[in-house]
Amino acid sequence: MTGTFGHVFQIALLSMLNVDLHCHSTISDGVLTPTALAKRAKANGVDIWALTDHDEVGGIPEARAAAAEVSLRFVPGVEISVTWANTTVHIVGLHIDETNAALIQGLADTRNGRQTRAQEIGNQLAMAGIPGAYEGALQFAGNPDLLSRTHFARYIIQQGKCSSVNEVFKKYLTEGKPGYVPHRWATLKQAVTWIRGAGGIAVVAHPGRYKFSPLAFDEFMQEFKQHGGVGVEVITGSHTVDQYAEYTQVATRYGMLASRGSDFHSPEESHVDIGHLPPLHASLTPVWQGWSS
Ligand code: AMP
Ligand code: MN
Ligand code: MN
Ligand code: MN
Repeated sequence: MTGTFGHVFQIALLSMLNVDLHCHSTISDGVLTPTALAKRAKANGVDIWALTDHDEVGGIPEARAAAAEVSLRFVPGVEISVTWANTTVHIVGLHIDETNAALIQGLADTRNGRQTRAQEIGNQLAMAGIPGAYEGALQFAGNPDLLSRTHFARYIIQQGKCSSVNEVFKKYLTEGKPGYVPHRWATLKQAVTWIRGAGGIAVVAHPGRYKFSPLAFDEFMQEFKQHGGVGVEVITGSHTVDQYAEYTQVATRYGMLASRGSDFHSPEESHVDIGHLPPLHASLTPVWQGWSS
């Protein structure tokens, strides 16, 4: 099919695919193995699936093999922690070559410091009346190099101090709370450069979660584009229905490709399961347009 109508038609078809380009395994702070995630994605009707562990690509070979086993199209990905204007933002890299040396080194450098940070979180929680949190969090971590606040949250719930991950974050693990330890992650330029250097495309993860002023958000998006970032998550488990509409407009305004991903971590904790998301608005260009594998 050719011409404008053909193009619009193709994009509409692409928008209808069940694509989930954001989720976490035991390699970072998810509770399912890459294999279990691949099976779950397939069972949930996903057509194209990406694994995007935090700052780590170690789960990709297993995920790729498990996806092939169930005939599921697989996209190697990663979610990189970034500090921009003293705020933590997450940048998702898709279709990366996970064997790229600069990416691997960059991610190792980004993970570096999580140990010390975790020990400090443990000390602060002890002072707030929750002893043994560092060791406790480690018990929940599939990968000791990637101790995350989520693992602390699981320990605090196990100790009966809170009943949900959300509650733990509100009471203990966010800025101004007793277990919050600020950390400097990769720069925006580094994250986008590592992703692009590994042949991937860079996408802003769950933009609705950041507390930027409109001016700061604009500055962030301009800088992201300047470094070569091309996409923004519009439909994500972290967005409200209103934010689906808001970020549909944002993607359009900045001329960005649009992405879709559950950010699934756990059957018990995540309110959005893999592949259980509304489609992208048909006016958007999906990040998966033109992907042949
Ligand atoms: P970290 O990289 O160790 O700072 O941990 C960040 C992770 O904590 C995120 O990837 C989420 O999985 C989780 N997280 C952050 N904020 C919240 C929240 N408000 N409620 C639940 N989980 C959260
Ligand atoms: Mn996480
Ligand atoms: Mn994130
Ligand atoms: Mn995530």
